[in-house]
Amino acid sequence: MNDIQDFQMLIGGEARSAHDGEWIESTFPFTRQTWCRIPRGKARDATDAVTAAEAALESAEWGGMTPTARGKLLYRLADLFEAKAEEFARLEVMDNGKRITEMAGQMRRIPDWYRYFAGLADKVEGAVLPNENQAVLNITRPMPVGVVVCITPWNSPLLLAAYKLAPALAAGCTVILKPSEFTSASSLAYGALFEEAGFPPGVVNVVTGFGHEIGEALVTDSRIAKVSFTGGEQGGRAVYKLAAEHFHEVALELGGKSPNIVFPDANLDNAANGAMAGIFAASGQTCIAGSRLLVHRAVHDDVVDRIINKASNIRMGDPLDPATQMAPVATEAQHAKILEYIEIAKSEGATCVLGGKAGQGPDCGVGLFVEPTIFTDVTNDMRIAREEVFGPVLSVIPFEDEEDAIQIANDSNYGLAAGLWTQDMSRAIRLSDRLRAGTVWVNTYRAVSYTSPFGGIKQSGIGRENGLKAIEEFLATKSIWFNTAEKVPNPFA
Ligand code: NAD
Repeated sequence: MNDIQDFQMLIGGEARSAHDGEWIESTFPFTRQTWCRIPRGKARDATDAVTAAEAALESAEWGGMTPTARGKLLYRLADLFEAKAEEFARLEVMDNGKRITEMAGQMRRIPDWYRYFAGLADKVEGAVLPNENQAVLNITRPMPVGVVVCITPWNSPLLLAAYKLAPALAAGCTVILKPSEFTSASSLAYGALFEEAGFPPGVVNVVTGFGHEIGEALVTDSRIAKVSFTGGEQGGRAVYKLAAEHFHEVALELGGKSPNIVFPDANLDNAANGAMAGIFAASGQTCIAGSRLLVHRAVHDDVVDRIINKASNIRMGDPLDPATQMAPVATEAQHAKILEYIEIAKSEGATCVLGGKAGQGPDCGVGLFVEPTIFTDVTNDMRIAREEVFGPVLSVIPFEDEEDAIQIANDSNYGLAAGLWTQDMSRAIRLSDRLRAGTVWVNTYRAVSYTSPFGGIKQSGIGRENGLKAIEEFLATKSIWFNTAEKVPNPFA
């Protein structure tokens, strides 16, 4: 076990192993070898973390800190993170197997999430309210909602943590970050930066372990105020139910089966590139994957041929090699699930026109690769069109006209994102209004920013992250009444 690195949790400013002394091994998806261990925290560790977060919330050091001072800490954190972006990118690649170029790009953007919300920290305002009683002064004060449990998935651990931590800390909350058991190393290393930036102990705690162990213990602790969860449908449902029993606030960012719609008047080469970005980037492991490609029948074969030609040349290989274009998927279970969906699609009558197997090229080694895969002859009632695969598997569905496209696109349990490819801007405006999704992209795909609200409807989630209003998700409004009358009347007189 010589080369295997052990990471520690951060609770109340202390680096800690799990109470039970147990560990979970993390494997590098390219070699399938264990490269590090993370603590297997359980209920006692969760209790300690909530105690630390609650104490920090009540402390004069954090609770009494001015919003401007909180903003300064966030700016400092952004600078510290920026200096270590490459280091964090490498940790993420070792954990989730994504390409170093993609993760390095993501890490370089993260500091701006903290800077954006650092600037917002002292721009949260209350109000003076009109009142029918002239002797009353009624004001509102936005207050931090309290201790927030932030639960993240394995595909983009630090970016998705930034979506939550930046507004929560700007609002004055304290947080407990619980990353995925498969990809915890980067979040554990990240905890130390908050200390270095000057956040008081207990403001940011990072704990690790399984969802059904430490995750559930955090969500069911009556002292927390809110759970901000990003992950799959099953985990989301469990968290929602458990939180409801304690009346905790909940925000859920869940999965998708997003339609990417190509009209005949589109620039078809751009559309093909957009389709590729939508499904093969990150090996399809993104919640916003454009996994249903809806193509007008008139250009169906042309668009499919273009994508096949481009996707056939994708170079699979070592995710740490900058020349690699497609990396392995993150876990053995995910690999098996994707291959199973490919078989389901075949058995449902879809035609596999590209890929359809585990990736076994000369540069793949024993890595958890899946070939870029395209199915045609897909109908929207097939499981491959309805269920989230979370892998590089594209379902192509033809449509006849606008009405047909909208009907197919909206006929989904999900509503996270949608893409539209057309040069007709009237059509783009008309259809972007009618698409039932939290985000619509026109002539682009997969763009996200700290400035723009992000989230889903239907089974894709509840609440919005990013943008000016994201800070409100971590605030509770208090109404304060001042009676200015000199005499308070006897209510029984
Ligand atoms: P997952 O639901 O298995 O796990 C997510 C996190 O939830 C992990 O930290 C896990 O330990 C925890 N968890 C699981 N069950 C729990 C429970 N009962 N109580 C408390 N915590 C629990 O998801 P995953 O497989 O890691 O990630 C993939 C999923 O995440 C996909 O469905 C994807 O679409 C979704 N996702 C959504 C977004 C978004 O912003 N909408 C972004 C990225 C990923």
